[in-house]
Amino acid sequence: MRYLSTKGLHETDLIGAIGRGLAPDGRLYVPEKLPNFNPQKIQGESLAEIAIELLDPFFVGSPLEEYLESICKDAFNFPVPLEELEKGKLAVLELFHGPTAAFKDIGARFLAAVMERSLRGLRLKDDRPLTILVATSGDTGGAVAAAFHGRSGMRVAVFFPNGQVSPRQKHQLTCWTGNVRSYEVNGSFDQCQALLKSAFTDVVLREKHQLSAANSINIGRLLPQAVYHAAASIWHWRKHGSKASFIVPAGNLGNALACVWARAMGMPIRDIILSTNSNKVIPEFLSTGAWQPRCSIQTLASAMDVGNPSNMERLRHLIPDFLDLRTSIEAYSVSDAAIIKQITSDHVRRGKIWCPHTATGFSVYDQLPVSRRKSNAWIVVATAHPAKFDHIVEKAIGARISVPPSLEALLELPTNYEKIEPNIGVLNSILND
Ligand SMILES: *Cc1c(COP(=O)(O)O)cnc(C)c1O
Repeated sequence: MRYLSTKGLHETDLIGAIGRGLAPDGRLYVPEKLPNFNPQKIQGESLAEIAIELLDPFFVGSPLEEYLESICKDAFNFPVPLEELEKGKLAVLELFHGPTAAFKDIGARFLAAVMERSLRGLRLKDDRPLTILVATSGDTGGAVAAAFHGRSGMRVAVFFPNGQVSPRQKHQLTCWTGNVRSYEVNGSFDQCQALLKSAFTDVVLREKHQLSAANSINIGRLLPQAVYHAAASIWHWRKHGSKASFIVPAGNLGNALACVWARAMGMPIRDIILSTNSNKVIPEFLSTGAWQPRCSIQTLASAMDVGNPSNMERLRHLIPDFLDLRTSIEAYSVSDAAIIKQITSDHVRRGKIWCPHTATGFSVYDQLPVSRRKSNAWIVVATAHPAKFDHIVEKAIGARISVPPSLEALLELPTNYEKIEPNIGVLNSILND
């Protein structure tokens, strides 16, 4: 399989696409062609087994092909349950049982597993590790730190903005030792990103420290995300004989795009609906046809506070015609007030506690016409454990949330981090350390 930039100008292989992250023309990588499967021929049952079958075409011709099985077993090593709430009609796909309790664990673990096995192919200078830089507004940094911690030949530096992450998120970003270091930047998330960008565009620095990025536009994070949507649709279809429709909370659009890819690969998926918070660039685009990216606004579903969703570029590449796009997906925006209302009412009505992101999905579900709810089978994607956002959720339900064991284990570790100013000289001396 070859990988092309969405402009079609740059072509590379799997290791190149994952190692670089962004194509040299500044565009995102996409597979040259999505493979097509007959779901009846898929034999695997577990997520790892289904992953091996579905990802095989993406690995064909790569030196990584021989490691596909070990990569999938390494990456998909925690449960991703599809829990039925109404038999055959409504289910929740829980993506938050990984080490940092958000769906980003899955993409990050897969990326780490691939990178570890690509080190030889990247032709590194022998004695120096690959240096992964990550800027985070909360969830990504913890997931990447957990996924890369303890892997040989790679070190990670996490940069987070002072005062802009929740206490539990901060703990998850700073409880690491060994090959993972954390830095609290005296500045905003945008300044963290700008700092890393200046490191990547500095050719000398980039070469010397063999810099790589683990941000969410890396195709190594999308592939495993397509797998769990595919697997959930297959599990549903085997059990009920019908195609499921999905509701996916969306910010930068990586998770939802992966669902669209799974459907385009022949999986038994019917409708796909995106739920956003009050950052409504996508719903507005689908209703007016005007693409108007802007600065994000802060909401309770903070991991979806994105004003210019990067993966729209890949979605437009897959479905270039606007009218086609409009019939392929829908998107609806959910306000902060509706998020709180949903968390409060579902705690009573459905006996479930959602994080603010997942609540947008259930709010959209509950707004659908009854006939549409009844005639389809729906899977709502749950993106994070509510205990990660205890400061919001506990107030909404008026009760304490128990913390899952993996998260508890991290919260008990001591933390350490360095405070830095956002300038390249400081970054340079950190990298030389
Ligand atoms: C990142 C994130 C999202 C948004 O996912 P995208 O792939 O950026 O659309 C939703 N919920 C949670 C909990 C997240 O961490």
